[in-house]
Amino acid sequence: MSDRATRILLVIGAGAAATVALAAPGTLAALAAPSSLAPVIAHNAGMLAGYGAAVMLVMMSRWPLLENAVGADRLARWHATGGRTFLVLALMHAIAAVQGWAQVRRIAVLPALAEVLGMPGLIAATVATALFLFVAAMSIRAARRRMSYERWHLTHLSVYAAVGLSFGHELAGPDVAGNRAAQITLSLLYVYAYVLVLRYRVISPVWQAFRHRMRVVRVSREADGVVSIVVRGRRLGELSPRPGQFFRWRFLTARTWQSAHPFSLSAPPIGEFLRLTVKELGPGSACLQRIRPGVRVVTEGPYGAMTAERRTRPGVVLIAGGIGITPMRALFETIGAAPGRLTLIYRATSVRDIVFRAELDEIARRRGARVHYLVGPSSASANRMDAANLTRLVSDLRDRDVYLCASPRLAEAVREAVREAGVPRAQFHEEVFAF
Ligand SMILES: Cc1cc2nc3c(=O)[nH]c(=O)nc-3n(C[C@H](O)[C@H](O)[C@H](O)COP(=O)(O)OP(=O)(O)OC[C@H]3O[C@@H](n4cnc5c(N)ncnc54)[C@H](O)[C@@H]3O)c2cc1C
Repeated sequence: MSDRATRILLVIGAGAAATVALAAPGTLAALAAPSSLAPVIAHNAGMLAGYGAAVMLVMMSRWPLLENAVGADRLARWHATGGRTFLVLALMHAIAAVQGWAQVRRIAVLPALAEVLGMPGLIAATVATALFLFVAAMSIRAARRRMSYERWHLTHLSVYAAVGLSFGHELAGPDVAGNRAAQITLSLLYVYAYVLVLRYRVISPVWQAFRHRMRVVRVSREADGVVSIVVRGRRLGELSPRPGQFFRWRFLTARTWQSAHPFSLSAPPIGEFLRLTVKELGPGSACLQRIRPGVRVVTEGPYGAMTAERRTRPGVVLIAGGIGITPMRALFETIGAAPGRLTLIYRATSVRDIVFRAELDEIARRRGARVHYLVGPSSASANRMDAANLTRLVSDLRDRDVYLCASPRLAEAVREAVREAGVPRAQFHEEVFAF
């Protein structure tokens, strides 16, 4: 993990510690009472869930500072883990609060639940919890596989409403009510999170659409089911796109306007031109195979931390699996390295799947770099992504920066191989084409 990502995790952890400190008076009072642990759990889990909801919003706001420091794929993984943790905390809070109330009132759990629901803001908070549970159920792998990304994404949007619904309850909770500083801090945190979401998820794409007025100018076939799309826009320099980064692209045709897909730049940006290369992997990318010049494009970005700025060593190895070649192609042309210190390892299932072969060979010749095409079944010993094979291809692997972009399965194998080969963690930079 990069230093910046570690620092961000530390900040999140410090916020969680401050939240627990805020709940300390309630915790101490509950501990002093001769009852069970339920009120202690209710206080702390509730406060942490409230804090966690705001952190989740910030994580998914597409704030460039976070996306570029952590990487969109890792942020999505943090969000998934954070989401599960949040849900457990919210449920612990709800169960412990009812249990605690039943003990205080010396009544059974069901009447206690009825009384709790009658408290201010509790119906809204319960609806919010039901929405969170619904979204969590839709995100379980088996359920998610059955639905399109767009539909899943739409269900996920209900989280914004759920967080809003639960906010009143958080402000009225026993740890925050009456504590003006805590109320202001929590409110500011939520306002900040929603402003980030609005700024980067809504205003930014609209602004980019009007400011840069991008249109498709050329579409060319690279291989079976793979096309390169060249987009032209105005004032693209203001976006400072860098090789290794990606945009979320929305093509404004009747069939494609509804979803913005992430695609990397497959060539360094030149003046008013950007190039992306799309492999057909599902309905959205299939439509893009037939896109025509003239189509308007709305973008969000650029995003991504897998850029030349991550360099720590003079030598570089780029490893690409399948369509993961796209950001590597852009980096291969531009990343600084002396002749003989730049190597690209490109894993493809068959010769027909190789894209950019002529471009890659030409760049290698021009830059004095090496390209290794590992083509064919994974069972072939020459194609194995293990430490022995990688060090056979690049003898000074340990002394180089390693950039990786591949499917989750291949990425897992390379991660393991690179670790085994002794490449320090700080020299390893990756992006997985999956959120
Ligand atoms: C950072 C990043 C960079 C990428 N760069 C490239 C590239 O340069 N070239 C390329 O061909 N592919 C790239 N991909 C993959 C590409 O985004 C997906 O293949 C494409 O979105 C699939 O959409 P679909 O409707 O065709 O397929 P579906 O069958 O709907 O989806 C296939 C997979 O893509 C995911 N996906 C679908 N839509 C989206 C979306 N809007 N946002 C995020 N994930 C989505 C789904 O979760 C699923 O796992 C990249 C992915 C990421 C995360």
